Amino acid sequence: MKKSQIIAEVIVRSLLLISIISCYFLEPMSIKAAPKANTLAGLRKELKEYQAKKSKAENDKKLTQNEINNNKNQINNNYKEIEESENQITQAKNDIESSRKKIEEYKKETEELMAFYQIMSGENNYLEFISDSSSMTELIMRIDAVESIAKYNKEKLTELDNLIKDLNQKQVDLKNYETELSNKITNLEKNIDKLNSNIQIYDDDKTSAEEEIENIKNVIKVYEDMGCKENEDLDVCASRGENNTFLKPVAKGRITSVFGPRTVSGQSSNHSGIDIGLAEGTPVYSMVNGTVFSITNKASCGGNKVYINAVVKGKKYTVVYLHLLKIDVKIGQEVTTQTVIGKSGGYSTSTKHGGYDRCTTGAHLHVSVAKEFYTGKDAPYRANLINPPGFPGKGGWFYSRTQWFGPKL
Ligand SMILES: [Zn+2]
Repeated sequence: MKKSQIIAEVIVRSLLLISIISCYFLEPMSIKAAPKANTLAGLRKELKEYQAKKSKAENDKKLTQNEINNNKNQINNNYKEIEESENQITQAKNDIESSRKKIEEYKKETEELMAFYQIMSGENNYLEFISDSSSMTELIMRIDAVESIAKYNKEKLTELDNLIKDLNQKQVDLKNYETELSNKITNLEKNIDKLNSNIQIYDDDKTSAEEEIENIKNVIKVYEDMGCKENEDLDVCASRGENNTFLKPVAKGRITSVFGPRTVSGQSSNHSGIDIGLAEGTPVYSMVNGTVFSITNKASCGGNKVYINAVVKGKKYTVVYLHLLKIDVKIGQEVTTQTVIGKSGGYSTSTKHGGYDRCTTGAHLHVSVAKEFYTGKDAPYRANLINPPGFPGKGGWFYSRTQWFGPKL
């Protein structure tokens, strides 16, 4: 997956499910998408897709790693060639040095020979010289020899001069070659950087695929445990489950924040209920059969609120829903667990996104449960708050309105 695709996906996910905060302090949190399939067979297919994504990411990473190693080898080879070139330059310098010495020697020898030649061919010294020679023929031969040697030396000097020129040119060529190699190394290093960032992307792909795999496996297990058939609608299957007195307010959700003490942005507080990550506009059902006692519209903290008083197993309770996008019930209305009390909000209702509720930033539903009926007074209600019963812990999913977690009520 390309980086731009990842960013696009992140934005889409953020808009849909987003980070949530809740009631009293800003608390951004990310929510994983729920599986899309609605049958066990569909879930298994989805699982296979993510497993394939994971394998692909692993394979891409391997190929990229090979390419990086290949580039590193090329860099090493280039460095070796530069070293070899440096050796050749040193060798050329040494050769120039010894050529210069030879030139000096040839020059000296030639000068001596020329001096000798002048002496021999000079008229003034002719007699003096001839008296030393055994014959005229030998003298001529000596002059010839001197001429030959001088000529040979002259040729050698030219040859050495040309050699020095060649060696100088060779040094220039080698330097250019080294520059070329250095440029190659720079490009290879740049390529390695790029490949390394690709590896980061493949790692991220793998991690997110693994998270999805883990998530889908958990979902599959829950439905298998419920005895759902391979092609049965999962919602239908889940509704066959055990009924408890407090039902879940929605058919499926993930707990993004739990009840009780928590620290958000370094400030500790008591969370008055639980948060369920939900796409905005999800229908919210009453968790209990009861009566709507109070409704608050557009509160600056909590937004649209519904308070329902109910008796559960002979005991009085208040159930409160916050951050609703829309309220579908009226004060005094009797509701059942099949009554939609409103639609979930939390994103567009937040002050951060143009709304009025400063105590939320992302799409979610907050539910509070307190002992005793709500009377309109906050202090006793707050003192009576309890952990809403039957929900999974932080990060946990529930998959039906009747799925129960923890001790029975
Ligand atoms: Zn909350």
